[in-house]
Amino acid sequence: MARVLVYAEVADGTVDPAALEVLTRTRELGDADAVALGPGATGAADVLRRYGAARVFASEDAVFSDCVAQPAVLALEGLVREHGFDVVAFTTGYDSRDIAGRLSGRLGATLMSNVVALPSLDVARAAVFGGSRFVDVKLEGAPRIVLVRPKSFEARECGGRAEVVTVAADAPGDLVTARRVERHEEAASGPKLEDAPVVVSGGRGLGEAANFELLEQLADALGDAAVGATRAVVDAGWVPYSKQIGQTGTTIKPTVYLAFGISGATQHVVGMKGAKRIVAVNRDEDAPIFGLADLGVVGDALEILPRLIEEVRARKG
Ligand code: FAD
Repeated sequence: MARVLVYAEVADGTVDPAALEVLTRTRELGDADAVALGPGATGAADVLRRYGAARVFASEDAVFSDCVAQPAVLALEGLVREHGFDVVAFTTGYDSRDIAGRLSGRLGATLMSNVVALPSLDVARAAVFGGSRFVDVKLEGAPRIVLVRPKSFEARECGGRAEVVTVAADAPGDLVTARRVERHEEAASGPKLEDAPVVVSGGRGLGEAANFELLEQLADALGDAAVGATRAVVDAGWVPYSKQIGQTGTTIKPTVYLAFGISGATQHVVGMKGAKRIVAVNRDEDAPIFGLADLGVVGDALEILPRLIEEVRARKG
């Protein structure tokens, strides 16, 4: 059976949920081990074993969080050389992308990014042309490295008693040159964009940054809802990047997605088309977003939003 190593990012003791999705899929295809590096890795091992990791390679060493990529690359290279993994699977997080690229260089390994499905461990389905097309790519050599987009698979627990193997943090000083000097955490309230069952999202059609307050009010009135945005408004500085949905932002699969003043560009749609129900409000009846909306309303978002907020508040009592 092919052997897979899944790299799981750990932040503040929490495992990246996308790593659990990748672990779930790869354990169906082969023997899947996982690796977690940095403070919180041992706790992460408990979670990774519940999602079917056969072994978890872990290190609590702070060098993995204090330095950018390099110590993790060296640790992963050591694991691949020692255990002969056929596939190393990453999620599409910032650190993962950095580590995967460097690892590919050090091992001379094939790397496929933007993967959205793994029909087998030799074939990766990847999004190309801004997510407008999908191609099945045959992966050759060993190890083969894949970077999988979040929400490509469903994470399922299966129990398990993974052995935890300590990884040495063996990074020579001259190879560890990029250090994190500061870490900023954005203050956030309500559910995370990627987890929220309802996402209320806005685009350039909202006219100006101040009108995003209407989306915040609607999300608040609905409850358990998050606010998202298009890249156009993130680039305009109306909202932070963490709200961006799409090819170069977050991928979401909420139960309901409400789009206000969003045209429906391919690069946006690729991040939200997995929503179960899509409601779109746009002034232009030919806007592409209506092509995928379950309910389309041709109208002015700035007129509709205050009335909708009022209606939701009245119904929720
Ligand atoms: P527009 O396309 O300008 O649409 C505004 C819409 O609002 C129009 O349809 C208009 O009819 C409607 N409107 C105007 N006024 C009103 C009103 N009062 N009421 C109702 N409707 C109104 N975009 C992303 O979103 N996410 C990404 O991750 C992303 N990645 C990209 C990566 C690359 C490499 C590139 C090249 C582009 C990327 N983009 C991404 C940008 C993308 O191509 C679009 O430019 C962007 O999604 C458009 O945003 P928008 O819908 O807010 O603006």
